[in-house]
Parts: sequence; C-alpha cells; structure tokens
Amino acid sequence: MQDDVLDREQAVTVDLIHKPEAQCATANMPDYEKAAAEFAWEEISGTMGGPEPGMLNIAHEAVDRHVAEGRGGRLALRWIARDGVRRDFTYTDLKFETDRFARMLQDLGVKPSETVFSLLGRIPELYFAALGSLKAGATFCPLFSVFGPEPVRARMEIGEASVLITTQSNYIRKVASARADLPSLRHVLLVDADDHAPADTLDMAALLAKTKADFEIAATKLDDNALLHFTSGTTGKPKGALHAHAAVIAHKATGRLALDLREGDIYWCTADPGWVTGMSYGIVAPLTNGVTMLVDAGEFDAESWYDFLEAEKVNVWYTAPTAIRLLMMAGDDLPRARDLSALRFMASVGEPLNPEAVVWSARVFGKPFHDNWWQTETGGIMISNYAGMDVKPGSMGKPLPGIEAAIIDENGDEMKFVTAAMTPGHLALKAGWPSMFRGYLNEDARYQACFKDGWYFSGDLAMRDEDGYFWFVGRADDVIKSAGHLIGPFEVESALIEHPAVAEAGVIGVPDPRAGEIVKAYVLLNPGHEADDALQKSLLGHARKRLGSAIAPRQIVFVDDLPRTKSGKIMRRLLKARELGLPEGDLSTLEKASS
Ligand code: ATP
Ligand code: MG
Repeated sequence: MQDDVLDREQAVTVDLIHKPEAQCATANMPDYEKAAAEFAWEEISGTMGGPEPGMLNIAHEAVDRHVAEGRGGRLALRWIARDGVRRDFTYTDLKFETDRFARMLQDLGVKPSETVFSLLGRIPELYFAALGSLKAGATFCPLFSVFGPEPVRARMEIGEASVLITTQSNYIRKVASARADLPSLRHVLLVDADDHAPADTLDMAALLAKTKADFEIAATKLDDNALLHFTSGTTGKPKGALHAHAAVIAHKATGRLALDLREGDIYWCTADPGWVTGMSYGIVAPLTNGVTMLVDAGEFDAESWYDFLEAEKVNVWYTAPTAIRLLMMAGDDLPRARDLSALRFMASVGEPLNPEAVVWSARVFGKPFHDNWWQTETGGIMISNYAGMDVKPGSMGKPLPGIEAAIIDENGDEMKFVTAAMTPGHLALKAGWPSMFRGYLNEDARYQACFKDGWYFSGDLAMRDEDGYFWFVGRADDVIKSAGHLIGPFEVESALIEHPAVAEAGVIGVPDPRAGEIVKAYVLLNPGHEADDALQKSLLGHARKRLGSAIAPRQIVFVDDLPRTKSGKIMRRLLKARELGLPEGDLSTLEKASS
C-alpha cells in the first residue's frame, strides 16, 4: 500500500484493508475458511513428541529436535545488548547451554516437581534458564525484572519457588531480606556473582563451568506442568496461571498460522518473558518454528526501534498497542527515512488495537499491524488477523483454526448463544485447546468459576460481525452502563484517538443519579497541542459526531500520563478508584510503582 492510498483524513472511513490475492497466496494460511474447516490438532501434535514414547517436552521441540534433524547450525538466538554488542547462538549452542543448565539443576538436587523462578533482564542466561528448567522437567516462572521486593516475594511465596536465578543487585535489593519468609527457596543462583556475593547464594557461572553438558531430557508428558505465568494485574490482584507441556502444540501452530513464521525468518517479539507473550512468542513459538529470534536488551525508544528493524532486517515483528501508539506519536518521518523492506508481517497483542493505529501502519509501512487476542490463561493466540486474510481495522480477527469461539449471553443458569451480528456478549472459548491453563495457583474455586458447560469464559465482552470477525467491546469489569446503553471504553477511546490532538485516552464510567453512569475520558495529548477549553470543546464535538451523544464522553480531562501496567496496559480500574476515592488495590504491576 502506498502513501497516497490512505491518509489521515481518510483514516476514519477505512473499514477494510484488502490484500491482493497474490499476496494472500504466499501466506502460510492462504485460505482461512478451508484451513479452519480441515484443521486437526493431531496434525500438529503428530509431528511432535519423543524421544521416548508418550513424551512431550517444550524444550525438546524448541531446541533438541532441530539439532537431531540436522538444523543445529542455524542461528536460533541473536542477542543485542544495550550498547549494541551482539551474541549469536545456533540451535546447537542452545542445546549445549540448556543441557548444561538442566544438568546443573539436577546436580543441585532439583526435582521435576519443583519450580524455578527467574528475576532477570533480557540476557542470554534467562533464555538458557527457561529452556534448561523445562528440560529438567521443572516448572519455570519468569518474573519481570523491574518488579519491586513485595511483588517478587509474594509471587515466589505462592509459587513455592525452589530455585531463583537472578543478579547480585536484584538479590540484595529485592530478595535477601525476605529469604526467611521463603522456606521453599533452597538455592539462589547469581549470574554475576563476584567476591561480595552474599553467603547464601551460589555463583552460577562457576557452577556451570564445572558442569558437563550431557543431559537426558526429562520424559515429561502432555499434561505435566511446565510454565507458571502471573496475569498482568490490570483488573485486580495478579493470578498465577499454570500451563502444561502440551501448550507447545498451540505455540507452534499459532506461530505458523497467526504470526506467519517461516523457516529462515528473522523475528522480533518486543515483549519481556516476564509476561506470557515474551515466553510463548518470545521463546517457544519462534524456536519451535525454527526461525532466528532477536532479543533486544534495551527499552523502548522510537528511533532505536526503527534502527533495529532496519539493521537486523526483521521479517516478522510482534509488539503491543502501547508501543505502536508511541511510534505514531514519534511521527512518520522516522520509518520513512529507513529501509524497512524486509518487514513482511506485523502483529500486535495485549490491549485493543485502535483502528487508527492499523490504518496508520498500513499508510506508513505499506502493511497493517495485525491485531490478535489472547490471555495469560489461554496460553496462546486464540483470535487473530492472518497474513492471508483482509483486515478490518479495529477487529481482533477470526478464531484460530481449531478454536471455537462464541459470544454468549449468560443469564443465571441459562446460556444463550448470541448469533445476531454486532451484539455484545461474553467472549467464550470451547474448553480443551492444548495451551489452555490448567489452574490458578491456590485458587481452584476461581479456576472452576471460569468454566461452564464445557466453555471457558474469558471475562471479556465482544461481538461478532456477519463475516465472522470478532470485535472487542471491553473487559466485563470495565464496561459502562449509561442510560440503558452498554458502552465499551475501547470504542470511545478509539474515537478520541482519531482526533489529531489525542495520543492516548482512558475511558471509565462514573456514577450518575440519572443515567446510572456517565462516560468520562482521560486524555493524553500529542506534542504541540494546548490543553485548553477550545480543545476540550473540539474533542467533545468530535466524539459526539463520531459516537452520538448517548455514547460520547460527558467529561473530558487532560492528563500528563495514564496509569498503566509495566507491560503497558491502561489500568482503568485505577482511574476509577482515584475518581471515586476508593482503595487502589494491588499495585504490584503498576508501571510507576515504587520498587
Ligand atoms: P488481569 O487478568 O490480572 O486483570 P490482564 O487480563 O491484563 O490482567 P493478561 O492475561 O496479560 O492479563 O491480558 C489478557 C487481557 O488483555 C485480555 O483478557 C483482554 O482484556 C486484553 N487483550 C489482550 N489482547 C487484546 C486484544 N487484541 N484486543 C483487546 N483486548 C486484548
Ligand atoms: Mg485477565
């Protein structure tokens, strides 16, 4: 798509990004309907497993299989440090590192039933630890390295951590004083131990140096625990979701079908493994599909991200709406000044992707961001826009082949399937896909409450249109009920973002004696716009024109920032608590929480 095809003025009217047939034909899934009709999980799982009968291990599929099948020399991981230094690892190198790590755990007496935690930035050791722990049959739980002491302690306590891999400074600042409260924690391994390392820690480099890389991978089964991930804490206290080795079947399938990964691709997932995206799609999906995955140890910066895309010749890029909105704010000149011709496919997850952002990407990159929807609980992508399918900006796309999704109106005991187009209801998935979570740690009643009559209720509201595309309405907790209307914050935020002055918006309902609730918007402006009465009027007018007066915000306030999670999601529950003077609840994942 060329510059002149879409421009900002047209943006709001574009309702379909049509892809030429020739382009669709080259996608991994050229015909969605056919693929969905013919799909069988067994076809994917049939190519996996071993080496022992009945065995399935994520790390075997991600690493050892490639070496056994002669692809060991291929570049698996390219790590790029903040200062630009690179380290390359082939699949054979990864096998060596992960075998050695697993052997070290075994020598330390770590049993397959135990849980290994990491508290590390995106350094190579994190990737070795994740895959090495899985090889040893242990459960692995990566914590986001910017968590402060309390979130770290609480998660290790409920996850009954046996081993922690971390840095010396993280240990001293965040863990040491809580060690007595963590009786299960037997070993703390420091990746950078020096002469001042605390006496109750071990020097991991020294241990590894004397460990042989001969390890027989644990004979884990489909349903054995593999990964523990905490949810983002957007709606409340984070929950610990458990996943089994079977998840790898979905990771491999979705990498191919939803992210269009192909052999030889260079792939960049910007998520940190401290969140489920950074594990499922920052490690497992790319490696099981045999591609080269890039790891950028640096933090977000528009200019360096574009440099990275250009210099590394990234083919497939998976990121999040919060980053995309920041890239939009940084302007169109940055991408235009670079050669991004290697980019073939771009995808987004984590929050609703505003249609404006999809249209912007199509205009600036010549190809749109493909939104997809999933959760920590689903373990993998469930609803997606595909390389071989037209994109409706603002839609999450269609269910992955093998996934049955429905909109259900739950009324007491009765479940009514909503078939009318564009009617909101609960977004539910037919239970039983391979990466479905196997439990919330220590919260069985809460886990059971997610399921009814064989369906998993996601806690999100959505609609389906007459073509089978799904549209996000909001989290059930965030939906606003105003004068008989059900209003999703996403719709209102997206309309506000179409206004040239608006960079981001967070929308909530506030109690109103007449309407029940009224819509209130918190707006963050693009650089160069004045937060004055005239702009407020202009925004209110724009929103009324786009949404109608029943749905448009009644109140708009300008803010310097919005509360968001460390993974970038807008925390509407905090906007609301602050508005109403209510307790703020769990703040462990708040971006600016003190650590
Ligand atoms: P918590 O469950 O602790 O409140 P969370 O729901 O944000 O946090 P995650 O599992 O990381 O934790 O996020 C999943 C949720 O993110 C989804 O249920 C949905 O609300 C939102 N989400 C993810 N992707 C999309 C998307 N493409 N469009 C709309 N919403 C999305
Ligand atoms: Mg959730």
